[in-house]
Amino acid sequence: MRRLAFVVCALALGGCAVTNTSYPSPTYSAPVAQAPPPPPSAYNYAAVARAPLHSELFACNRGGSNLGEIGLRGEATRYTPYMDTPAGPVLRNPTEAACMSSGFGWRNMSSRQHNGIDLANPSGGFIYAAGAGRIVTADWRGGYGNFVEIDHGRGVQTRYAHMAELNPDLRPGAHIQEGVAIGRMGMTGNATGVHLHYEVLVDGLLVDPLHYGIPPHYQTTPVTQTFPDPITLPPPPDLQQ
Ligand SMILES: [Zn+2]
Repeated sequence: MRRLAFVVCALALGGCAVTNTSYPSPTYSAPVAQAPPPPPSAYNYAAVARAPLHSELFACNRGGSNLGEIGLRGEATRYTPYMDTPAGPVLRNPTEAACMSSGFGWRNMSSRQHNGIDLANPSGGFIYAAGAGRIVTADWRGGYGNFVEIDHGRGVQTRYAHMAELNPDLRPGAHIQEGVAIGRMGMTGNATGVHLHYEVLVDGLLVDPLHYGIPPHYQTTPVTQTFPDPITLPPPPDLQQ
């Protein structure tokens, strides 16, 4: 702050000669809002099992925004385990276990675009590479907290935010196989609950990770039956495992 005050002062007065502001000592460094130093991980990532394939994705509750079509059991009716992308199949739910607390799109309440989907689990769990690719970033990124970006080639990237910790072996530029654990779910950055904020980009555009690239054989007759609100959703499957 003193450095900032000095700079402001210098800009405002054309110099601080008339003040008693002392110059920062050579060893002075302004406190910077950065990530805390990562604690040593309790997990041996090399031994962690690959990503499970989730046959369904459930809404955490009906209060989430942009959840899309939700069935009577609380399931996302358009969900498929993989999205078809130019880089090949990419996981829609690259978590150990989670429900969907928020979908992709414009949020009326906050008038903000939500650039991904939120996959939540209060118990945390592992986060996995949604497809094979190269690590672009594995570091702290402001409001995103502990953050990973993977480039899958052919214009497809995935991003993972708010993680509690990152796999310490991730190196930018290094190749990573599909389903390898890249960290643990958390609430670092500007998250208010333990969840994965998951973004997918295709040719530089953010796409909806829940609805993008539905495989042709899943594209059946659209559901036209509607149900009266409110529907009390059953609790999502056991997330405490
Ligand atoms: Zn989010």
